[in-house]
Amino acid sequence: MEIERFAIHDGPGIRTMVFLQGCPLRCTWCSNPESQEIRTHLLYLSNHCVGCGRCYQACPNGAISFDGHPVFDRKKCLFCAACAEACPHHAIKMAGKFVAISDILNVVQRDKDYYDNSGGGVTFSGGEAFVQFDGLMELLSGCKKAGIHTAIETCGQVAPDKIKQAFPLVDLFLFDIKHTDKDILKKTTGADLDLVLDNLRFIAANNPEKVIIRVPVIPGFNNDLQEIENIFNLALRLNVKRVDLLPYHVLGKTKYEQLGRNYSFPYDSMLPKEALIPLKEMGEKMGLEVYL
Ligand code: SF4
Ligand code: SF4
Repeated sequence: MEIERFAIHDGPGIRTMVFLQGCPLRCTWCSNPESQEIRTHLLYLSNHCVGCGRCYQACPNGAISFDGHPVFDRKKCLFCAACAEACPHHAIKMAGKFVAISDILNVVQRDKDYYDNSGGGVTFSGGEAFVQFDGLMELLSGCKKAGIHTAIETCGQVAPDKIKQAFPLVDLFLFDIKHTDKDILKKTTGADLDLVLDNLRFIAANNPEKVIIRVPVIPGFNNDLQEIENIFNLALRLNVKRVDLLPYHVLGKTKYEQLGRNYSFPYDSMLPKEALIPLKEMGEKMGLEVYL
């Protein structure tokens, strides 16, 4: 779990982002690989490292060897954070921690005045926030009791009964639609399009105003007029008025390196916002509100 206060891109107004770990998908371009599993991760920022060896000396489990710089045996790592605390240059960070629901709600409630003055609230993100369903429901209930607007970013790969239970407590679903071809979606992300669409249809049928469809526009995957038109048509059929297009970025690539993992997605340059303008214009001509 991580918290980011004063966010302005994921729902209306000033918001607190609550990132819950765990994700059922494995999108090949994932920009938050440290959120995929529910556990702590060790990030090594090699560009901060001066090779002093203090982390190696601090490790209680022999998970670090030293060759002018630390080499991590992540299978041996206990995630005790001793190396991160010993590093004078902040070259080691621990990502993801277990936090009590009451502590999260305390942080979230601190900024209630900002939410009220800006039309903001709290956005639960991930990973996929529904993976930690029981905790999510407690958080949503706590926010509602405190009169706080709630949004959830979801990939839609969620058991339908969970969406139904959460529905009354959620003011806005930021619902990812990545592709309309079942096989391409399955192969590239692991998602089941039928399940994703069933969930989207349920929400939109009950209140289309509660949905913004979000499309990560990914080169070589869905970055073409025909596929984006398919998604726009889906929005229109479900009476969803707004679609956000999110250009592919490569910020996640560095995280893979920091986690000691390979980034296998073949595109390693950002998609400029301007490249999405023809897609935005197409959506607007079709009668949608389209935001970049
Ligand atoms: S987190 Fe603890 S066990 Fe893991 S490498 Fe650092 S000091 Fe060693
Ligand atoms: S303690 Fe920090 S700066 Fe020193 S070797 Fe370890 S990671 Fe590098």
